[in-house]
Amino acid sequence: MAYILLFNPPAPGGGGFTREGRCTQEAGVWATQWPPLSLTTAAALLVRDGHTVKVVDFPALGMKTTDIPLLIEKNRSDFAIWGTATPTLYSDLLVAGLIKGISPTTVTAVMGTHVTARPEEALSENAVDIVIRGEPEGIIGNLCRAGRSRWENVKGISYRKKQLIQHNPDADYLEPATIPAPAWRLVDHCSYRLPLKGRPFLMVAPVRGCPYRCTFCTAPLYYGTKLRRRPIENVLREIETNIKTYSINEIFIWADTFTADREYVREFCRAVIARRLRISWTCNSRVDTIDEETLALMKNAGLWMISFGLESGNDSILARSGKKMTVAQSRKAVLWAKEAGIRVAGHFIFGLPGESKGTMAETLALALELPLDIAQFYTAAPFPGTGLHAEAEREGWLRKDSSSSQASAVMDLPGLPAAEVDDFRRFAFRKFYGRPQAALNVLSMAEWRALKSVPAAMKGFLGWTR
Ligand code: SF4
Repeated sequence: MAYILLFNPPAPGGGGFTREGRCTQEAGVWATQWPPLSLTTAAALLVRDGHTVKVVDFPALGMKTTDIPLLIEKNRSDFAIWGTATPTLYSDLLVAGLIKGISPTTVTAVMGTHVTARPEEALSENAVDIVIRGEPEGIIGNLCRAGRSRWENVKGISYRKKQLIQHNPDADYLEPATIPAPAWRLVDHCSYRLPLKGRPFLMVAPVRGCPYRCTFCTAPLYYGTKLRRRPIENVLREIETNIKTYSINEIFIWADTFTADREYVREFCRAVIARRLRISWTCNSRVDTIDEETLALMKNAGLWMISFGLESGNDSILARSGKKMTVAQSRKAVLWAKEAGIRVAGHFIFGLPGESKGTMAETLALALELPLDIAQFYTAAPFPGTGLHAEAEREGWLRKDSSSSQASAVMDLPGLPAAEVDDFRRFAFRKFYGRPQAALNVLSMAEWRALKSVPAAMKGFLGWTR
């Protein structure tokens, strides 16, 4: 049996950073630090196999890169496995050298969407032994079962063999019924708090995979393109454990698109209501996979906020990005959710192919017109492995020396330099949150225990601390 260290590494500049499949983001005013779902799910599988496992979430604990040597000194594990992200890749990979410098026999392995698309890039850092490609938990389980060197039959990994890079065949995705509840007891589960509410929350992932192919999204790289639904009984049991064992009834339903199968969602809601589970939850949805009836049921089952990827206020840009939805559908879905009494967060992207100053203005006008409680504005990020990245490379849009992030534009589109996208994004935040109504919305969501976070939140929303 092995000793395995799983961790979310520090963010290069300190502060929070979430690395969870297609979502990699700096913690900020609304994007709080998420509990590490993939790491704790992998941990549950490893513990079941009899291994000893330690999970460390550096950003959540306020730990920095300088804390790594001491951690390794104290935990000379057989395996050290950690998440990586495109915006932090350089520092994420350097962690391997720190580990090997102290514990040369520890096998180092990295996971995440970037290294899945570009395993060679990760393995060019000599201290990285293994790249885990795609959905990580099952692969981690097989790797640790195989031991320190017999990796030929471990599907889903890339590694060096006699100085040559070996890519083993892709791994199968986990059967949904075999996905365990995350081992939250291995992290300080109380340190993850909802913004503006201040209450602890946990993530629950009822479904995995997304059948859509939006050109900017890395979802297919991680959980694949087939929707896999966990048995609802398993999901409910997990939620009951969150309530009974951890006293947490705030749930962040994490999915690529939770509502991809509406009937599954309805069944889930009916079961929550039938069992009288007193939970409060949030989830995401596409605007074309939802309807009034389902939203009413979700509200009755405890849904308080829904996030829609509205992306753009221009139909041509939506079509070109493969989003397969329209602005009219966005309008309808947001209004339905508000009528059902659900808070709505709208997510928008500036700088997708076809963007101009005019279309950015259309997007902002849509954000201002809709009764949104929260708006998040991102810059289009051409993450490796996506259609957007392939197009950007082909067209020569990528700026040199810049790493894709959703908070800073890296593509000079025809007639629209990256700097103008960044300026417009800042302007959009100020316009949206500068309205008295937006401030009132933020205030009305805040709970007493988190009231002191409101001024900082508004500053952040207005771009003063960004
Ligand atoms: S619908 Fe599009 S953006 Fe949403 S998870 Fe699926 S591929 Fe990604």
